[in-house]
Amino acid sequence: MIVIGGGVIGVATLSALCAKGVPAVLLEANDDLALETSFANGGMMTPSQPEPWNSPSAFAHLLSSLFQPNSAMRIHWRVLPGIMGWGLRFLQNSVPAAARKSAEANFVLAGYSLNCAKNLTQQYQLQYDQGCNGSLKVFSSKYEFAKSINMAQELQDLGLRFDAMDGAGAVTVEPQLQHARKQIAGAIYYPDDCMGDARKFTLALAEHAKASGGQIKLQSKVTGLIRENNRIIGVDTASGPIFGEVVVCAGISAPDLLRPLDLPLPIKPVKGYSITVDASALSGQMPMLPVVDEARHIAITPIAKRLRVVGMAEFAGVDHELPAKRLHLLRGVFDTIYPHLSSHLDWQAASPWTGLRPMNCDGVPIIGRSPVNGLWLNCGHGHLGWTMAAGSAALLADMIIGARPAIDCSAYAYNR
Ligand SMILES: Cc1cc2nc3c(=O)[nH]c(=O)nc-3n(C[C@H](O)[C@H](O)[C@H](O)COP(=O)(O)OP(=O)(O)OC[C@H]3O[C@@H](n4cnc5c(N)ncnc54)[C@H](O)[C@@H]3O)c2cc1C
Repeated sequence: MIVIGGGVIGVATLSALCAKGVPAVLLEANDDLALETSFANGGMMTPSQPEPWNSPSAFAHLLSSLFQPNSAMRIHWRVLPGIMGWGLRFLQNSVPAAARKSAEANFVLAGYSLNCAKNLTQQYQLQYDQGCNGSLKVFSSKYEFAKSINMAQELQDLGLRFDAMDGAGAVTVEPQLQHARKQIAGAIYYPDDCMGDARKFTLALAEHAKASGGQIKLQSKVTGLIRENNRIIGVDTASGPIFGEVVVCAGISAPDLLRPLDLPLPIKPVKGYSITVDASALSGQMPMLPVVDEARHIAITPIAKRLRVVGMAEFAGVDHELPAKRLHLLRGVFDTIYPHLSSHLDWQAASPWTGLRPMNCDGVPIIGRSPVNGLWLNCGHGHLGWTMAAGSAALLADMIIGARPAIDCSAYAYNR
């Protein structure tokens, strides 16, 4: 089996295949693993955030962002023509019933995945600055707070646990919010969420996969899929063809690989940013869990002795620029949430980063067979790829060996 892509999804897939005894080789275009979207993401493993980003309100917000360049969620004029077809499907999926169906599918997968990641962590003794203190969403608007409580109540039957509280309650859960308390109209604590460094996880899991017989070839860009009738029999690379069945885990590049087969894959890049700052100077004042500012689309995650400020959603095409204005916005939110901590941190030495979320038009990943024999898909995980990686990989490996996956996978099928 050939796995294309060495991000968190590809490496988790390689590992799951090795665990099932399937001989597999992973091909990664870059010099190392997890240098693209899995590099410095929010680090949150949050089944509590399953809502697709094409919820009805998000769509209206996106349109208004055309005229508000400082909006955290924004669409750029220049990408509008290229995004129209995808945008129509995004719009169709933004009606409440469709958005709810997507949220449920994501929640079920994310919950299963979190358990898979915990099992892998224990079984292989993986170290990736992990923690499971839950996560906290804070709201400055009563209306948004009430909406999120509604969504949480809808997911309660599927197993979501949550605790809604006022600003004082939020400070009890995360004492470092003490100075932001007056701005908090409400907060929701999700006790089952976890966090960790997605890149460290990817690298640790890759070592384990190699030790179990998996091969990893870096600097091995796949230039095309080799087709014989209605079957994929291998891939072309600069150093020659490699033969076998194929799993595409290529993040935002997956549609390019499938285009010559006339297999549309409705995945577009959604840009986000992070700044990681050393927080060892904080010692006793270190925040304990990820805090998500829902309205501003920004989160702050403690990852061992670092703090990562992360967020924003831009439809900007394949664009790796790091504009100072956007980083300034991230920093501004940090200063609002933790004003007493900011001056203790060396922001000059902080590491800014941008990544492109591979977003499917309904906000749910595609996991399973493609319509072409010998070609499997594990892509389009959008804002939840780190959360869903271990579970998506386990499901796909079960499908490949003909075993019954642990959860119903129809919601993730290519032809759903
Ligand atoms: C700002 C930001 C914050 C985020 N926060 C979170 C979070 O807190 N929690 C969460 O769950 N998710 C989060 N995400 C989402 C998560 O990071 C992604 O969903 C996930 O990293 C996607 O993983 P991937 O393996 O599909 O893609 P990638 O990590 O991009 O990996 C794809 C790999 O395929 C390789 N590749 C592509 N084409 C080829 C080819 N032709 N040949 C060989 N190799 C190829 C690429 O080089 C790349 O290494 C965040 C994303 C962003 C941008």
